[in-house]
Amino acid sequence: MLDPDVCYRALRARDERFDGRVFVGVTSTGIYCRPVCPAGHAKRENCRFFPSAAAAQEAGFRPCLRCRPETAPEHGSWRGTSNTVSRGLALIAEGALDGDDASVDRLAARLGVGERQLRRLFKQHLGASPVSVAQTRRVLFAKQLIHDSRLPMAEVALAAGFGSVRRFNETFQLLFQRAPSALRRKTVVALPEGSVASAGVTVRLRYRGPYDWESMLAYLRARAIDGVERVSDAAYHRTIAFEGGMGTIEVRDLPELQSLGATIRFPGVRALPDIVTRIRRVFDLGADVVAIGVHLTRDPLLAPLVAARPGLRAPGAWDGFELAVRAVLGQQVSVGAGRKLGSRLVEICGGRRNGAGPAEGTLAVAFPDATRVLHADLDALRMPSARRQTLVALAKATLADPLLFQPRRTLDETVAALREIRGIGEWTAHYIALRAAREPDAFPASDVALLRAATDRAGTRPTPKELYARAEPWRPWRAYAAQHLWAKSARASDGGLPT
Ligand SMILES: [Zn+2]
Repeated sequence: MLDPDVCYRALRARDERFDGRVFVGVTSTGIYCRPVCPAGHAKRENCRFFPSAAAAQEAGFRPCLRCRPETAPEHGSWRGTSNTVSRGLALIAEGALDGDDASVDRLAARLGVGERQLRRLFKQHLGASPVSVAQTRRVLFAKQLIHDSRLPMAEVALAAGFGSVRRFNETFQLLFQRAPSALRRKTVVALPEGSVASAGVTVRLRYRGPYDWESMLAYLRARAIDGVERVSDAAYHRTIAFEGGMGTIEVRDLPELQSLGATIRFPGVRALPDIVTRIRRVFDLGADVVAIGVHLTRDPLLAPLVAARPGLRAPGAWDGFELAVRAVLGQQVSVGAGRKLGSRLVEICGGRRNGAGPAEGTLAVAFPDATRVLHADLDALRMPSARRQTLVALAKATLADPLLFQPRRTLDETVAALREIRGIGEWTAHYIALRAAREPDAFPASDVALLRAATDRAGTRPTPKELYARAEPWRPWRAYAAQHLWAKSARASDGGLPT
């Protein structure tokens, strides 16, 4: 529960730590703001505090045009607390409550809870109903595209998940008493229809600092697959493909804005929210690394690692199946060897972009989906045949259950579901849970690099069982502890130490 006095002090101080955690509705104006709003402070008695933008909007407040609540960092305090809320938000971000046939009932069923329980959990953690959360998400995403992009209004409406342009106009008229186009800065020139594919849309995605961009890029660089990904000094590029469309993303850090800038080139605007959600996941924008760091620092093994990389994130996966394939290719081999196998797989069965040649260094190929892997001739992959069979089993399981890589009610359930696939053991299941299902407590205790990094001063390397026991106090953030240990281990191998 939010303490109004604490919230008001945070507001007076424009305390950035509260940005994304608290939204303040001002009763005298009907507007809600971020605590860092540059506009003057309202009187204490006119302030109401909310744990989410949706809660403020549900209470009848409209978003401030100056501090732009849509640009607040994701608050994410439910991560590690309520898996159901976390999963529900992920599904809503993918559009589960957009469209005329959407229902909270069906969303609850997908999450394995009753509708009333889902409402109660949303109320408890976000202060708003699932429907309000979805509505607010649409409005705020549309507002961001109006401000930051040059997309025509009709495309903004589609991209944000409004069923029709009329509904989009009505919603904005009701909230802001003006047409959506009136919110666009005059200096912005609208692009012609269909231009997202060529010129691209750039969105800013805010994070709560610190953000260790160098470590993130280093992680992605070490695993970049030829033709699919390219990591330059400052940016990450990759091809993206789904629902028959193919495009690219380019992501760079904008530290002065505490944001990542993502340029998306994709033929269908309706895919934009999904693409943005995936980018948030890959770059772990929702993590509160300060709070996580405080928790992990209690262990003397982790304290110096957290101090060295306070902004370290746990990279997520662009796609669950892709990540699982990478995990299987990486079984028992080095990161570099896993990367080569990935590049070979993409050569064998990746999807080529129209007109794109196989020239080296260009982003010409999409990572193969489950159907392509299932029908590919995998004999050319130089690895044990049992592992090739695991790829086939993985493709079949993915086609049979599209929700395979969603987190379940508990980490144990997520891991158990993955372990049902032949060839997926405890290590691989935890690794997939960590990266694809974004389980913050996943921990592949038998990982060789983790065991190496956890070696004590006397040179004694723990057994997986000992490391597992050691990691118990790191809950519910063991995934971040693992990331710190991996970062340490990667640096040691860069320095020429034995691997
Ligand atoms: Zn404001």
